[in-house]
Amino acid sequence: MRQRIYIAVLLLLSSLPVLAAEVSGFRVWADPVKTRAVLDLDRKTAYKLFTLQNPHRVVVDLEGSSIDIPVELDEEHAGIIASIRYGQPDNNTLRVVFDLTESAELKSFLLEPTAQYSHRLVIDLYSKSNRKTSSLVKHVTDISKPNRDVVIAIDAGHGGEDPGAIGRNRTREKDVVLRIARELKKSIDAEPGMQAVLTRDGDYYIPLRGRYEKARKARADLFVSIHADAFTKSSVVGSSVFVLSARGASSEFARLLADSENASDLVGGVTLNDKDDMLASVLLDLSQSATREASNKVAADILNAMKRTGTVHKPHVGRANFMVLKSPDVPSVLVETAFISNPGEEKRLTEKEFQQRMARTITTGVRDYFYSSPPPGTWIAANRDSKKYIVARGDTLGGIASRYSVSLSRLRSANNINGDVIHVGRELVIPTS
Ligand SMILES: [Zn+2]
Repeated sequence: MRQRIYIAVLLLLSSLPVLAAEVSGFRVWADPVKTRAVLDLDRKTAYKLFTLQNPHRVVVDLEGSSIDIPVELDEEHAGIIASIRYGQPDNNTLRVVFDLTESAELKSFLLEPTAQYSHRLVIDLYSKSNRKTSSLVKHVTDISKPNRDVVIAIDAGHGGEDPGAIGRNRTREKDVVLRIARELKKSIDAEPGMQAVLTRDGDYYIPLRGRYEKARKARADLFVSIHADAFTKSSVVGSSVFVLSARGASSEFARLLADSENASDLVGGVTLNDKDDMLASVLLDLSQSATREASNKVAADILNAMKRTGTVHKPHVGRANFMVLKSPDVPSVLVETAFISNPGEEKRLTEKEFQQRMARTITTGVRDYFYSSPPPGTWIAANRDSKKYIVARGDTLGGIASRYSVSLSRLRSANNINGDVIHVGRELVIPTS
């Protein structure tokens, strides 16, 4: 009896295709230049990829695979994918078809398992016709323009495939940091002489190096990466500010944190195997010391603002080997806004009031930094010694302008005012002649 079962099992096994893989998950993410489709596989499998025209389609044939999940398209993130379906052209093949709204160039790769995911097949669809560039890539500061704004690149950590840290109530770091980043942009844009750009403004992943490259291309004066911390002990609370460490990390805690933040690229979908890494890191180290000094200063200013308005995790600026801070020429800081692993702070992270307070606090620190060390040629360099005036009842903009002998147009531009409406109690900057 025992033997017969054995034979039956063997027959069954031999009739199964080799390395049968099961598709156990499916996700789509759209960023400004591409749409990324991700298939979770329980093991590595061979696949073929091709495109068809009229209508535009991408076909993926997975060898000896099956699928046992409902494949639903999340419309908000669908990008150029109009619909998705699958079938079996023969017994040994799972065929997944993506119907596209336009033709696309393809890139695909397999990713190894991580703590969060199993094996994955990633298919990137680059739109050929209407290639959009993000606002940040389009934004290039004209550094020769007199009285230009200082530009602050705000980087919401994680995104897309990479959720970042996850709280007990399933709050995802990538979602709350994007909300804080948007609040921070609003708060900075409201400051005269300051302008913010976002590295991402949606739920998609950007490789770590791509984040600071965006800031460099935009000729940003400062790069601020926004994160939420996680630790094994849920009692740990408070905000932290980090700069890149000169050599390695300043503490074991910082090293562990750097490891988990740097692992983003493995989760988000980049393989870190650039051959010129060694050369790049040598070149980066050489040009980084001036940038490092500025980074230290702005980090201290942000931390001081935090000490005045909230709870800080440590009384000093942290140092860690964060990949995202390795810009050679843009001062860079990383803010861990709060601990998502602490239930109280997790809740606060989701609240608009906390998000706005955090944004205002970071803005205060950034403003303190630029007013004490303004880059030459900026509006702040020209106006930081100017007088301040608090609008009183009965004041008019014209009246204030003539009282201080400045033109109405200079007074308007110094304060980001378009019309003539000024509110009682507002602090106006009176430009120096
Ligand atoms: Zn993070």
